[in-house]
Amino acid sequence: METKVIKLDYASPDPKLLGEAGAVLRRGGLVAFPTETVYGLGGDALNPQASRKIYEAKGRPSDNPLIVHIARKRDVYEIARDISPQGEKLMEAFWPGPLTLIFQKKDRVPPETTGGLSTVAVRMPRDPIAAAFIQASGGFVAAPSANVSGRPSTTTADHVLEDLKGRIEMILDGGQAVIGLESTIVDVSVETPVILRPGVITREMLEAVVGEISVDPALIQPDSDKKPKAPGMKYRHYAPRAELTIVEGSPEAVVREINRLTEKWEAQGEKVGILAAYESADKYPRGLVKGVGSRRQEAEIATHLYQVLREFDETEVTRIYSESFADARIGAAIMNRLLKAAGHRVIQV
Ligand code: AMP
Ligand code: MG
Repeated sequence: METKVIKLDYASPDPKLLGEAGAVLRRGGLVAFPTETVYGLGGDALNPQASRKIYEAKGRPSDNPLIVHIARKRDVYEIARDISPQGEKLMEAFWPGPLTLIFQKKDRVPPETTGGLSTVAVRMPRDPIAAAFIQASGGFVAAPSANVSGRPSTTTADHVLEDLKGRIEMILDGGQAVIGLESTIVDVSVETPVILRPGVITREMLEAVVGEISVDPALIQPDSDKKPKAPGMKYRHYAPRAELTIVEGSPEAVVREINRLTEKWEAQGEKVGILAAYESADKYPRGLVKGVGSRRQEAEIATHLYQVLREFDETEVTRIYSESFADARIGAAIMNRLLKAAGHRVIQV
């Protein structure tokens, strides 16, 4: 299959091109599209065949449910039922935006889309190209991140092409995704809302709207035998090809340890990559150093993280050492993805 790439202008996306993309979905095909978080791999959420194709194109395990994307708030009532007052408040506060909510599903949503669960994940993206594309596709677009399962999510159309060329009909190119990390997921199908995946909408922001909420214990203690409530969180994810290790400790100790390890492995003929904040990037005389953003601008680190992980895949490095980042606010989402990419390999210094 040939994958067509269509460039769209944010100021005035061509309705004819959007119509063409929408027609692919109405016929049961797949189109990758930009959102403010990462690129999504879209198919008609109400068509079980389309959902099966999504799993196939990504190589994704079929027990890992898809998020249904909508373009108008009122459409949530077509696919979800028993929406709680907290669910209503969170939609009011954060939609459109990078927040996915879990509700009990209506029968219209086929089990293929929800990995057999009785609940459905719903998000209304803020990105205007995403919204126009969803509208042109019939209103309900199932879309996981547009990457091959296990690799870092995609934040540009080029990354999507790298992973999915020949496997999908079309890619809508809207430039770089501004947030760069997947949406926050909150389960509101239970009495006290639970964060299933951290994102740029932080716990503090959610609690300011609905009061106390909890965090899926499997996220806090990844080594425990607790099963994460978002099935996707149990898989190794976001991972570069080289072995990634996070080094944690005071800034000086981290720099010293990464320099020591780099020297040690280089002496044995290995090539070492280093993922660092801009503030410390020039403190590593050896290794291939990539700056990911400034510690004073966590959002910038989020935007570039997956791109930097992918860049390492284009080099010869066999090991990557990463500095760790503050574990609060957006930092919690950054560390969650980094830890998963590292398979939870952490060195404390
Ligand atoms: P992705 O689209 O790649 O960001 O992955 C979607 C994430 O949403 C995965 O971690 C899924 O496990 C999670 N998810 C989707 N639907 C549900 C659901 N009904 N209940 C819990 N988690 C879900
Ligand atoms: Mg994903």
